[in-house]
Amino acid sequence: MLDSGRPPHALLVHGPGGIGKRRLALRLASAILCIDPRSGPCGACRSCHLLDAGSHPDFLRIEPAEGESAIPIGSVRDLIDRFTLAAERARVAVIAPAEAMNQAAANAFLKTLEEPAGRATFILASDAPGRLPATIRSRCRKMAAPAPPDAEALEWLETKTDPAIARHLLALSGGAPLAALELGQRHDKEALLALHAETAALLGGAADPIEVAGSWRKIGDGELVLSGLFAVLGDLVRRGAADPDRLHGAVDDVVETRRRWLEVPGLNEPLLYEGLALRCAGTAA
Ligand SMILES: [Zn+2]
Repeated sequence: MLDSGRPPHALLVHGPGGIGKRRLALRLASAILCIDPRSGPCGACRSCHLLDAGSHPDFLRIEPAEGESAIPIGSVRDLIDRFTLAAERARVAVIAPAEAMNQAAANAFLKTLEEPAGRATFILASDAPGRLPATIRSRCRKMAAPAPPDAEALEWLETKTDPAIARHLLALSGGAPLAALELGQRHDKEALLALHAETAALLGGAADPIEVAGSWRKIGDGELVLSGLFAVLGDLVRRGAADPDRLHGAVDDVVETRRRWLEVPGLNEPLLYEGLALRCAGTAA
């Protein structure tokens, strides 16, 4: 695509979270803007230096503000101001995570997509492309970015974090190496190992559900507890270690709990965990 010298007008890089889609989008942007690209940005030309310094006039990165989850319309207006004047030189905007554009921002962006000016390239990265308006999706060339093979992800992760825990981090993150690295930075090693061990014991019928629910609560991160459950359930399914119907019932239960947990603010967490732990323990019976 880059060798042809004609990058697409809009590219949507999609795949699971925590595997490096935004990094890929930024690297593609560098390669498109690079004056002397080979198999990627040269790293030495004026354009590459300007990008490194964060002051490239033809590059724009659009993302939610620090601590915010949505991309506001103001950011898209900047893009429109800078990208609607026709220019012969290449210009690139990276929008990540693209699904974070609110309705107004998405509508404004769609107008820019419909009326391209000059050699502009928009690179969108998304974990949840289904949440983008279909009108935006249909105007982008799609590029699927799958999670790397487990062995490759593990090899990389072991160079970045304590090798003793790398495998657990990867399992807890559904095989996404960057997510695993971030997880390891947010939580201490002992707590993560205990989560994995206790959850496995619970599903094996070897732990008291009320006690396990108590230690889940102490972790203080519902998202992590639920990913821990997913990881252990996934292991059991792969090893054929329990009755498949019961296991799949437990997976559905975790999915449903997670949905409620995300949708209902101020949910009674102790009760939620206890209910889930009791039902998961029943899976093993
Ligand atoms: Zn360069």
